[in-house]
Amino acid sequence: MGCKTQDTEFDQQSEKISEFLQNVKYKIVVMSGKGGVGKSTVATNLALFLSSQGYKVGLLDVDVHGPSIAGLLGLTGLRINVIGESILPYQYTDNLKVMTIQGMLEQPDDPLIWRGPVKIGIIRQFLADVAWGPLDFLIIDSPPGTGDEPLTVAQTVTGCQAVVVTTPQEIALADVRKSIKFCQQVNMPILGMIENMSGFICPDCGKKHEIFKSGGGEKTAAASNIAFLGRLPIDPGVVDAGDAGRGIDSLTGHTKEDMQHIVDNMLNQLNSNNQNKKGDDLTMKIAIPLAGGKLCAHFGHCEQFAMVTVNDGKITAQEKLTPPPHAPGVIPNWVADKGCTDIIVGGMGEAAQAIFEQRGIKVLGGAPSDTPENLVELYLHGRLIDAGTTCNHDHEGHDCNH
Ligand code: ADP
Repeated sequence: MGCKTQDTEFDQQSEKISEFLQNVKYKIVVMSGKGGVGKSTVATNLALFLSSQGYKVGLLDVDVHGPSIAGLLGLTGLRINVIGESILPYQYTDNLKVMTIQGMLEQPDDPLIWRGPVKIGIIRQFLADVAWGPLDFLIIDSPPGTGDEPLTVAQTVTGCQAVVVTTPQEIALADVRKSIKFCQQVNMPILGMIENMSGFICPDCGKKHEIFKSGGGEKTAAASNIAFLGRLPIDPGVVDAGDAGRGIDSLTGHTKEDMQHIVDNMLNQLNSNNQNKKGDDLTMKIAIPLAGGKLCAHFGHCEQFAMVTVNDGKITAQEKLTPPPHAPGVIPNWVADKGCTDIIVGGMGEAAQAIFEQRGIKVLGGAPSDTPENLVELYLHGRLIDAGTTCNHDHEGHDCNH
């Protein structure tokens, strides 16, 4: 009984979250492998620059253990206001709304000792119950690393993309590679990488000194096929501005230009991603191999394929088609010719996977045996984790090179 009630509450909350997210054009989580690399500074300034360019922006701090957004914006004494069932975000400017855990603390320096499930609950509540209204951008500042918070964001915020911040030292780059792997594992696209603290411009001699080296972020981005959005130098003005609750837009000189350059690159990247998408970016056609009406782990020898059309996050059509007889490469090309954008499978051989990749079809592997409707719902809510496509089912003597 108790469990059922919890399930219903969870589903109702998921419904509210998905209603809110449908009214947000771009969702961006700012991540870093390590703490102290300037992730919150970047998240705050992305929000400030975008909102002063006229975009409607929501800035959400999900760093429940070390929230710093309120401090960076000078929001001391911030309290959370609740009206009816809604939490009101702090209206920083006409175009910028802010939500942080800071407003729930008695004292700004109080430590939070919360376990995973509580953190997940708080983040979901920030998405379900805050009266954000329609937004162009939701910028989420997540704590460093790959823990509960970024995982919750990746699984809950459908359509979220990551911006990864690093400094140029090898130790930071090693950690950033973990963040990249994490994004790949949870199927969250990476919009681009930013290298912060990249060289120091001496205020006396005007020369650039490479204190932590520079260019490592750009090289790591190139090696991982990720867009490089730009770099910010070490600038004592950034610390002063942050401590005084002001943004980089209050500075004069190069750093402000560099930040603007990053924002321009990010907008260009979003635009070019949109242009590269075929047709309406809210339409998907998802293929699922079936046996007995449920996902068939043996992709190449399934009875039928469900092809589920999704518009605006909702299933709008479904057909069941019998594939042509199995021969290497035939089925993946047949699925692609049907206009599918995504395929959900149990396992699949490398050759088939390569064909899907080549034809721009996203493959999610390791899915459980369930009905196509259930699998698509889980997929749309980010609750189907890509567990890889290694064929580990019982082949009953068949080879699995298909
Ligand atoms: P993170 O969120 O990664 O922990 P913060 O954004 O809180 O990092 O930044 C950590 C400290 O570094 C802050 O004091 C901030 O003012 C400072 N900082 C961030 N970026 C720069 C920069 N480009 N130049 C100088 N100081 C910076």
